Amino acid sequence: MTTATTLAAPSVTQTQNLIGGKWQPSKSGKTFNVYNPSTTEVIAQVAESDAADVDVAVAAARKAFQTWSKTSPRERSALLYKLADLIEKNAEELAALETLNNGKPIAETTNADLPLTISTFRYYAGWADKIYGDIVPVASNDFFVYTRKEAVGVCGQIIPWNFPLLMLAWKFGPALAAGNTIVLKPAEQTPLSALRVGELALEAGFPPGVINIVNGFGESAGDALVKHPDVDKIAFTGHYETAQIIMAAASKTLKRLTFELGGKSPNVVYADADLDLAVQGAMTGIFFNQGEVCCAGSRLFVEQSAHDQFIEKFKAAAESHKVGNPFDPDTRQGAQVSEEQYNKILSYIDLGKQEANCITGGEPACDNGWFVKPTIFTDVRNDMRIAQEEIFGPVVSVIPFKDHDDLLSQANETVYGLAAAVWTQDIKKAFKLAHSVRAGTVWVNCYNTFDPAAPFGGYKFSGHGRECGRDAIDNYTETKTVWMNTN
Ligand code: ADP
Repeated sequence: MTTATTLAAPSVTQTQNLIGGKWQPSKSGKTFNVYNPSTTEVIAQVAESDAADVDVAVAAARKAFQTWSKTSPRERSALLYKLADLIEKNAEELAALETLNNGKPIAETTNADLPLTISTFRYYAGWADKIYGDIVPVASNDFFVYTRKEAVGVCGQIIPWNFPLLMLAWKFGPALAAGNTIVLKPAEQTPLSALRVGELALEAGFPPGVINIVNGFGESAGDALVKHPDVDKIAFTGHYETAQIIMAAASKTLKRLTFELGGKSPNVVYADADLDLAVQGAMTGIFFNQGEVCCAGSRLFVEQSAHDQFIEKFKAAAESHKVGNPFDPDTRQGAQVSEEQYNKILSYIDLGKQEANCITGGEPACDNGWFVKPTIFTDVRNDMRIAQEEIFGPVVSVIPFKDHDDLLSQANETVYGLAAAVWTQDIKKAFKLAHSVRAGTVWVNCYNTFDPAAPFGGYKFSGHGRECGRDAIDNYTETKTVWMNTN
């Protein structure tokens, strides 16, 4: 690993729960370890919460909802702008904290996670005073009918470890703009950046109880939040198996649910594509964020006539991809988030070696830390497990295809439907794929582009509802219809 140009790791400033505007330990006094994935060292011990802590946080959020939901939209907007400014002011520290705790490269946290987090807060700050209903033209002139968009209430937000700050922003932004209060449970692997944002939210002046953060594990703290009778909505990002558990657990209290789940997204390269650009797109598609991306282009469909030429270029690019110390500004791929995730990826690689042909990678990288080499499998069939199951690592399955019909039947042959991409210079092929693939986002001659204004979410097992854009505002509002007898 390079050390000469290495940036310094930040210090951890907060490890407690944020409840009712105050930092506090868990009621049991228990803590859990949080790791630096690039060294496997423990970097913090964070409050481990259970149902008793969730109870207090939900009560604080309920109390705060009474006033927060009635604040003027401009006031909410100003606070969101202020928080965005504070995040921007502390962006270097937050980027380093995210790199320290997640293992992703500092170049990515600096150039992607932080700018997107800040722009998401600003985007929803702009929405706060633009959320309104309609006047409804009913049949009888005896009534004046209008709709109001009201906040849903107390929102439990459960986020994953792959983009800790950005997932927080996608959930906080629309919820707060619309006047909801929040109990956030960060992923147990990566709570540190959320806790720092909690400190900044207090500094910005958010009233006590509007934003609460409860740390802990999914099966205890997360489950308590999902089952709590005084939580109105759960917004969850994670695995579909967890979403199934959450759906069942939330059914007793009929909570509103929105889910952003996994994927096995088809990234399609036609022979007429600019192959160098397509190789770059395949690299971004699968190796960005160590492949720990729900919309990763993990099924790479390449038209047969360009297959060998494309693979030669792609293999060379993967082999020159710099893996290592995430604090080195030149590093392009850092560590996988946890030992569990690292072992899961390596076991999928073992399986892949039995099913298909591993042409590069296929083993750990670096001497210590949870690093995996960029790995390419060729001769993959779409029905193989490595092509159907989400690996969530730097592992791609290359599948050749004959023509559009062959491609489409395979591309849609998955339980998932989060994203897809197509590389071609033929606009008809681009439209054909964009309109026939069952996925929530389609990229044409690009991959992994994001913007807070652009809705994001999935078909099928990839989710319910959309994050970002106006759609997310809909997720955090109830429509109330008012009938006035004017007679
Ligand atoms: P992973 O296994 O990769 O951590 P999960 O879907 O399990 O992905 O985790 C995403 C988030 O969901 C985390 O914050 C985790 O703590 C939480 N979680 C896991 N299980 C549950 C559950 N049964 N109820 C509520 N939240 C959960």
